[in-house]
Amino acid sequence: MGTRAKVEALLAARAARKLDLGGRVVLPGFVDSHTHLIHAASRAEEYELKIAGASYEEIARKGGGILNSVKKLRAATAEALKGRALAALREFAAHGTTTIEAKSGYGLDVASELKILGLHRQLANEQPLEISSTFLGAHVVPAEFRAKPDGPAAYVRLLVDNLLPQVAEGGLAEFCDVFCDRGAFSWEQSREILEAGKRKGLAPRLHAEQLTRSGATQLAIKLGAASCDHLEQVNRADIVALGKSKTVATLLPGCNFHLGLQQYAPARALIEAGAIVALATDYNPGTSPTLSMAMILSLACTQLRMTPAEGIVAATINAEHALRREKEVGSIEVGKQADLAVFEVEDYREIPYYFGVNKCWMTMKKGEIVWSADSE
Ligand SMILES: [Zn+2]
Repeated sequence: MGTRAKVEALLAARAARKLDLGGRVVLPGFVDSHTHLIHAASRAEEYELKIAGASYEEIARKGGGILNSVKKLRAATAEALKGRALAALREFAAHGTTTIEAKSGYGLDVASELKILGLHRQLANEQPLEISSTFLGAHVVPAEFRAKPDGPAAYVRLLVDNLLPQVAEGGLAEFCDVFCDRGAFSWEQSREILEAGKRKGLAPRLHAEQLTRSGATQLAIKLGAASCDHLEQVNRADIVALGKSKTVATLLPGCNFHLGLQQYAPARALIEAGAIVALATDYNPGTSPTLSMAMILSLACTQLRMTPAEGIVAATINAEHALRREKEVGSIEVGKQADLAVFEVEDYREIPYYFGVNKCWMTMKKGEIVWSADSE
């Protein structure tokens, strides 16, 4: 990259194909650092219950929520799951996203969790977008363990003694994640699982302070987690601690928007405290069924009061820090991959401004065009 004279003088430029982008806006490809890519079906049937006033936790108690997705995933074939994920990955590319993180967590038994993580690997090899794989066996306690009084403890043992070693030995995930909250896993259980993951070489990340303040943010910092995500319920001490730490504060405003919740994460306070703030879709069938980072930017601007520039930083280079790939991608720099998203706008601020409208015109991964509006 550089001036035309400098670039055209490079030896490698002789064989290069020239692309005229016609004055459009070029950004580093979006990095979506929090998705639940592999799931079997939408949960549109719960959408109307939510609109009628049922809370996310009430729906979960009635067998909906995450356990509903678990039931559907266990019944689905690997081929069906893969087909659905491939279609989603094409959509991610069409919206300017070039790298995603993907979590397991809708299997919650040995075979199903390994099936999801195996699909992450296949998908990473068979289509152009990069996939960073995260093991989220600790999403919730599955139904078959809930009935018994010592069930949750037995499930933690299954994760630590059986699943984690298999995930690590198979090289199936880079990260270990836990949903630390009311109705999911306690602070103590989260610590045990994440420390066990760390011993196996899986870096920690956490679903933290979404429904209640559990102390998960401080745990994430203490464990040197790559990221703690959600953060709607953080307190002042958490914000100050994040400001001093390298753990990325990943905000997921799509969840609040989809669930109709008013309390968004305190993005301004986090930025002012010096925290590394990232944005992600949390693409999942229950709380945030969007894969549009541009829509997340619109929410970041209007609901989190981030500027468009802060939003773009949070959706690219800061998100790469959350995935620990900031040396390869996340910005347009000499020495990094040419992961680019081109937008049909005159000013970068128009990307969040046209909310709900996909202005992506071309997406490039490692210098190859992987999606183009013209060829659609
Ligand atoms: Zn999530």
